[in-house]
Amino acid sequence: MTSNDSDLSDLSGLFAGATDAGSLLGDGSLLGNGSGNGLGDGSGAGSPSADSADGSLPGNGSIGNADSSAAGTSASATPDASDASAASANVSSAHTHRVVIVGSGPAGWTAALYLGRAGFKPLVIAGALTPGGQLVNTSTVENYPGFPDGVQGPDLMQAMQKQAEKFGATVVYNDVTRVTLSDDADGYKTLVLDSGEVHKAQAVILTTGSQYRHLNVPGEKEYGGHGVSYCATCDGFFFRGKKIAVVGGGDSAFQDALFLTRFADVTLIHRREGFRASKVLVDRARTNPKIAFRLNATVSEITGDGQKVTGVTLLDPRDGSTSHLALDGLFVAIGMTPNTAFLGGQVTLDDHGYIVTDGGSTRTNVPGVFAAGDVADPVYQQAVSAAGMGCRAALDAQAYLDR
Ligand code: NAP
Repeated sequence: MTSNDSDLSDLSGLFAGATDAGSLLGDGSLLGNGSGNGLGDGSGAGSPSADSADGSLPGNGSIGNADSSAAGTSASATPDASDASAASANVSSAHTHRVVIVGSGPAGWTAALYLGRAGFKPLVIAGALTPGGQLVNTSTVENYPGFPDGVQGPDLMQAMQKQAEKFGATVVYNDVTRVTLSDDADGYKTLVLDSGEVHKAQAVILTTGSQYRHLNVPGEKEYGGHGVSYCATCDGFFFRGKKIAVVGGGDSAFQDALFLTRFADVTLIHRREGFRASKVLVDRARTNPKIAFRLNATVSEITGDGQKVTGVTLLDPRDGSTSHLALDGLFVAIGMTPNTAFLGGQVTLDDHGYIVTDGGSTRTNVPGVFAAGDVADPVYQQAVSAAGMGCRAALDAQAYLDR
């Protein structure tokens, strides 16, 4: 959700059950990306106004401009966070809130629902480009409990938003570009939006998600959703009996390769001979007859017939030689990038850039700042686990506000 890249295919399938945007399935059938009825076009069900937010002071009237969601700006992350401190922002017309939630995926809406029901009238800063997070770019979600026939990702997110708004949550469709998370003299944290608006809150919940790292090779964008996938859990099912490969040498790649053997033989492509993945996963893959390895192999191009993937060109970095591997599907599992740039280093991150939370809680190192969902979860990264964590963040924030 917080990519600066306006190409929606870059935002594919982050959450549970998320097929890549418009995934072309292994059998050649193209799933709709479902984004037409999503929130990303600014037609979301939510009220765009935040004027009714708790204690809100009059602003410039432009907050919540739904048009901004179609403006192609990105949610939450800003490439230049060097001046992340918002302390110098003109806050004379700031809107004040008990609690602000940054991000509008399952974690964000769930936190908003709980805090709304608790009477806090939370403000959700939903992002400008793709409010609703990754599920907005998703077709059928089959692994969110309660929907035995599956649910369209955008429909699910719209329902979550509607439910949160029913209990008093309000929404701004814009991006946070700068923050000051330490309290000012009045006990408020400061968030500055891309529009220049300033929001102040006693507590902040960060739910900005993360995005898949991309290979950035020719053919990747073209065939994104047409055989290139970033989510094995989501799309593997559609590649039954097809020729598929996974790129990467970390836990994700190995886990994906092992998972995908349910559907087909898998080639694991990795750029060197050593793996980052844990030994147990490597051993398991090594002894799995359905997994073949192409090591010392860099994907230099994804080839296709104009409609879908037909293979990859592999480059051996040792001697520069190239070869071609015929494929129907390529799963890219080379890591994630959590969307935290806009925080400007004010919240402690782990080595991979995920927000660190305190034990089993959602508390960050900054009092009154909580984190939930993929931005704080390097392991599970599922819609339902994000929603659960959003619930926990709401309860943690409530305890903080009631202290
Ligand atoms: P990761 O550990 O960062 O591994 C990324 C892999 O992709 C590395 O092998 C890397 O190669 C390769 N890579 C990176 N950029 C590439 C490029 N441009 N072209 C080709 N290959 C590229 O990422 P991850 O596997 O997603 O794991 C992220 C974190 O989540 C880790 O802490 C991991 O332990 C955790 N995780 C845990 C589980 C679990 O079951 N507990 C499951 C998934 C993830 P090099 O090795 O050559 O750099």
